[in-house]
Amino acid sequence: MELKTYMCLICGWVYSEADGLPDEGIAPGTLWADVPMNWACPECGARKEDFEMMAI
Ligand SMILES: [Zn+2]
Repeated sequence: MELKTYMCLICGWVYSEADGLPDEGIAPGTLWADVPMNWACPECGARKEDFEMMAI
């Protein structure tokens, strides 16, 4: 399975499924779909719907 990367459209912060976000309890390998709906961008507070998948 190929892990994807998502970018915040507001501030440009990037979420990598491979890296997760251990500081916020999101383990490496956590799929974007499994990130909690109430999660927000650590930089600007944007919600998941403000993120877009990045083509690598
Ligand atoms: Zn952001």
